[in-house]
Amino acid sequence: MAYKQYTSREQMERDGWKFSSGPELAPCRECSNPVEWAKSPKGKNIPMVPGSTQVHFDVCGEQPAPRPHGRAQAKH
Ligand SMILES: [Zn+2]
Repeated sequence: MAYKQYTSREQMERDGWKFSSGPELAPCRECSNPVEWAKSPKGKNIPMVPGSTQVHFDVCGEQPAPRPHGRAQAKH
């Protein structure tokens, strides 16, 4: 979406982004992937992909989380 792409969090912090010292990881309500909350230069809470510089909006809904069914069938 309309967020600038960064290559490091240092760059983001220079631009005014704030990351909570203790990362708050919580699953996204939409896609249930983990998100880390950051504050944008405008003071908005933005969900981030944990440990990365990518905003969660860019990946939200992609559902990379593999469902553990289908393949692994327990045999007796
Ligand atoms: Zn999501």
